Amino acid sequence: MICRAYRWEDLPSAKLAPAATSFAQIKTWRDIEILAGRPSGLLDYYRAHGLCIACQASGKRSTPVDWEGEVPLFEPCEVCAGTGKVTLN
Ligand SMILES: [Zn+2]
Repeated sequence: MICRAYRWEDLPSAKLAPAATSFAQIKTWRDIEILAGRPSGLLDYYRAHGLCIACQASGKRSTPVDWEGEVPLFEPCEVCAGTGKVTLN
């Protein structure tokens, strides 16, 4: 079976601003939400920013499906099609 495998940096999710998923950005957002008495969990962060929860905005499935030399190749996340984002309702 032939699957579509990509380098992580070739997936659309690699174009997300790095700050969107940085630990510091998430912590700052959570601190603000806690002070405001609003839901402040990690899933709440993903929902609030339209990020894909299934792949944690990485755009890829967690395990490499192939290798290109020493570079792991991944299948795109099936929920967000590799974008790392989902449409907000
Ligand atoms: Zn995803």
